[in-house]
Amino acid sequence: MNTDEQDPRQEIENLSDLLRTYQRAYYVDARPLVSDLEYDRLFDRLQELEEAHPHLRLPDSPSQRVGSDLSSEFPEVEHTIPVLSLDKAYASGEVSSWMIKTEAKVSQELSFVVEEKMDGVSIVLYYEKGLLVRAVTRGNGMVGNDVTANLKTIASIPLRLPEEVDVAVRGEVFLPKEEFLELNKRMETPYANPRNLAAGTIRRIKSSEVAKVPLRIYVYEGFWSGDHPFTDHISILSTLASYGFSLNSNIALFCKSRSDALQRLEKASLAGEALSFADFDSYVIKHTGQRSELPYEIDGLVVKVNELSVRETLGYTERHPRWAIAYKFESPQAQTVVENIDVQVGRTGRITPVARVAPVLVGGSTVSNITLHNQPYIDMLELAVGDIVEISKRGDVIPAVERVIEKNEKGNKVWKLPLLCPSCSTPLVIRGAHTFCPNVACPDQVSSRLKFFAGKAQMDIDSFGPETITTLIDLGLLEDVPDIYTLDYEKALSDTPGFGEKKIAAIKAGVEKSKGQSFRRVLVSLGIGEIGKKAADLLVGSGLTSIDDLLEIADKDDVETLTTIKQIGPKSARLLIDGLNDPAMRVRIAQLRKLGLQFEEAEASEAPPLEQSFASQTWCVTGSFVHFNPRTLALEEIEKRGGRTTSSVTGKTTHLLAGSGAGSKLAQATRLGVKIVNEERFLTLLKEEKTNQKSEDVQGEFSF
Ligand SMILES: [Zn+2]
Repeated sequence: MNTDEQDPRQEIENLSDLLRTYQRAYYVDARPLVSDLEYDRLFDRLQELEEAHPHLRLPDSPSQRVGSDLSSEFPEVEHTIPVLSLDKAYASGEVSSWMIKTEAKVSQELSFVVEEKMDGVSIVLYYEKGLLVRAVTRGNGMVGNDVTANLKTIASIPLRLPEEVDVAVRGEVFLPKEEFLELNKRMETPYANPRNLAAGTIRRIKSSEVAKVPLRIYVYEGFWSGDHPFTDHISILSTLASYGFSLNSNIALFCKSRSDALQRLEKASLAGEALSFADFDSYVIKHTGQRSELPYEIDGLVVKVNELSVRETLGYTERHPRWAIAYKFESPQAQTVVENIDVQVGRTGRITPVARVAPVLVGGSTVSNITLHNQPYIDMLELAVGDIVEISKRGDVIPAVERVIEKNEKGNKVWKLPLLCPSCSTPLVIRGAHTFCPNVACPDQVSSRLKFFAGKAQMDIDSFGPETITTLIDLGLLEDVPDIYTLDYEKALSDTPGFGEKKIAAIKAGVEKSKGQSFRRVLVSLGIGEIGKKAADLLVGSGLTSIDDLLEIADKDDVETLTTIKQIGPKSARLLIDGLNDPAMRVRIAQLRKLGLQFEEAEASEAPPLEQSFASQTWCVTGSFVHFNPRTLALEEIEKRGGRTTSSVTGKTTHLLAGSGAGSKLAQATRLGVKIVNEERFLTLLKEEKTNQKSEDVQGEFSF
């Protein structure tokens, strides 16, 4: 019998069996049994058969590991086991006294299991008769979202258990640090931490997208329905391991004596450290120190009573089990309540939700507004107005909502963006992860566009700040960028309170002077395809020295020419071309050109090149400055002199420019022996540079 005539049911079963074995060897044991080619061949054959005979597809088919393109929603599902959070302690002394008190309460000798508190997404996997039927997020502990299709793409989750049991398994889905850094580089909106990226991934609509992210899971608790033979937690763990789950092997068992602990671990054939109670404090100290070297993020340790009968006796409070406690590491984070969520309309029409939180001190400054980026980000956080959240400062500066700690009691649901633009009531449209107001005349867009255009890092128009712009918009005198150059400021403002003769003259002078700004600055100020300074430099540097050069590329839809420029990828090229082809942008460019702005890079460059005296130095900049505000201005000075800049202090960092309010980076730099430079010293370094330069021949070339 040749394969074509084989009974499809039999062939599907055989292939499924084989592929399951291969997948396990590959993903769980990290020991591939066959070549990728052979694997793909079998896999394709299985998919082909399943497509031809959908009714024969097995419920635990290995083909589900790659996900599907079917849109899946995430219906709410009630949990059938208690999914409570843990009581917390912030000092190891608190934990040891909790252990002593707990023992006293039940008047019996106890053992405790200590596990790492994975900083990931809490998930419950429900198995019926050994088959994975549902994967549900923790949600509010009572109700979570059904994310089964997406979780099935995680290779280390068994779709079928070796026993036909009904069991609910709790675990933490996470993304290892290295994979996070790699993936985050390519994100439209980078995530604050691996946990948020993992949570965002679990909520992707297409499970095929989820399959591309190397999510992992460690399980740490099992709830069997009906009778089970287990008397302690470690035997639950070893049983889960025997079912094929991945477990974090970094656990410790604490007993009265070390030998007792060792014996118990051996009996359960479980890896882990065997320790005595006397070792507890040093274990916590050691583990806290090792934390940064782990390949994944943890935010504390979990201590659980090992004896299951005692767990029953102790029971639960309304919120927490009485038989476990979380020891939380200290972190530069704070808790606050989300009082409201507003939406802002950006210059490109992009709608950004912003959380208004009760003011709270984090890392040295008070935070009251936090960007929430877009709807998927809010969905990932499961954030509602009234929720208590944990916030941190990303890169020491930008505050971010890390997670919801406690759901609001008013029953507010996850917050959703409005359907209409809050500024002009135009129906909003969704493009990718973001939502936009498509109306170019939208008042909020106009205002953001003008403020951006005139801003310090763009056209840098003197005396033309946000208040002046707002006043002029309110007077109905500014509708688009070109109006800045056509407006009769005397006529417009002479009767307006707060605008004296002097101020009006300053505005006029500032506007006139800005006409001399270089082409690359004009390019950045227009915000075409969100071109920043670096992209503008790249474009001009590669010979595209006028707007006509760029318009020609846009007319021909010539992505290729753009992508031959190093560091410009297809995505940026597409954005740039679409931006240039926007009819409103074309009109704006034509008008501004007529009005005398620079649309061609001058032959002689605007600033002569500086001696590369920062060459082979790597600088990190932190804190705030008097002369460099925003601090990207300091970064520019460093880069102009051939220095590299990074956003964090690492072993490669040679200098840290520390302004006021410098926090963890300063500490890190001190620890690593990085040279620390204050603003005053930095200014001297720059000036020394300028004097040297005068005596040197100015080179006609620009280095990019
Ligand atoms: Zn609008």
